[in-house]
Amino acid sequence: MIKVGVVGYGTIGKRIADAVRLQKDMELVGVTAHSYNYRMEIAQKKRLKIFAADGIEELKQNGIKPEGDINDLLGQVDVIVDCTPKKLGKENKEKYYLPKKVKAIFQGGEKHKTADVSFVAQCNYDEALNKDYIRVVSCNTTGLCRTLFPISKKYGIESVHATMIRRAADPWDIHHGPINAVVPVLELPSHHGPDAQTVLHDVNIFTTAMSVPTTLMHMHSLIVDLKKEATAEEILDLFRKTTRIRVVRNAERVRSTAEIMEFAKDIGRLRGDMPEICVWEEGIGVSDNKLFYLQAIHQESNVVPENIDAIRAATGFSDGQKSIEMTNEALDVDHF
Ligand code: NAD
Repeated sequence: MIKVGVVGYGTIGKRIADAVRLQKDMELVGVTAHSYNYRMEIAQKKRLKIFAADGIEELKQNGIKPEGDINDLLGQVDVIVDCTPKKLGKENKEKYYLPKKVKAIFQGGEKHKTADVSFVAQCNYDEALNKDYIRVVSCNTTGLCRTLFPISKKYGIESVHATMIRRAADPWDIHHGPINAVVPVLELPSHHGPDAQTVLHDVNIFTTAMSVPTTLMHMHSLIVDLKKEATAEEILDLFRKTTRIRVVRNAERVRSTAEIMEFAKDIGRLRGDMPEICVWEEGIGVSDNKLFYLQAIHQESNVVPENIDAIRAATGFSDGQKSIEMTNEALDVDHF
């Protein structure tokens, strides 16, 4: 059993903790608490072991019984999954993981150079094998890599132009916006293109981005110049056969991110999650060698399977395809 600890029990961390518990080859040793909140009450009700990253007195005053502090957690794990807010992963690496010689998986809020490799399982699992520090790229970058990789492999890519239409905040988040504006990212390219190249090293990609008043999902509009000719039907077939991509259909009245989220709830997904990248069948088009498509990204969940595969890669499980299948099976990905 691979012993796993989760540092940072928020949007991503709580999902990864649940996902680890569903793997037959992993054991969740515990999660950290940074301050007292309802998530800690839930963790305690789920009988997770809680280790105080901070605020131990506040936790105790509120009836949370920590097993120890973050150092106690580090002493019991093979791998830590760091799910703290951006930049804290780097600090934690220097303060805890490096001195204690503990392997760690970081999230997309960290810089590429904080880890040995940036990671999307179906693109570069082998590159991450036995690495001490692996960074699962952001939700947007994961979405770009998952669909561009099979296209690049089969048809070759001259160049990609993609626009990220980003959700303003996660659904629970009362602090961020916009709530009544479209905010362009005035940085060209937006950071997503260079970030995708940390995984897809040879893909020539240029991205632009904006934030819009929604919390449900991100949307991407992609234009891909192909090296070899393809039809829209062939691309659709390729997406249908590729893991962690779901083709959705306007014809079935899945016309929006709202309907995708409702679909995820209706098929019984925990928290209504949709870790697959959703590509609209009717949105795929080809003109000369230019391919157009639209995809929706559930930012809260699409990186969760990647983190599970990153744990296996870090601990030397050498068969990436098998890891993806095991993760998919345990998390019900691709099944419906
Ligand atoms: P979050 O704010 O929801 O959760 C962060 C958690 O870390 C909170 O529970 C907080 O209490 C805890 N925390 C804060 N400081 C801590 C510390 N010093 N030690 C231990 N715990 C601490 O954040 P999130 O959205 O889960 O993001 C985590 C990482 O995942 C970031 O790198 C982010 O960029 C990345 N990510 C987020 C999303 C998303 O849409 N939310 C998607 C993909 C990747």
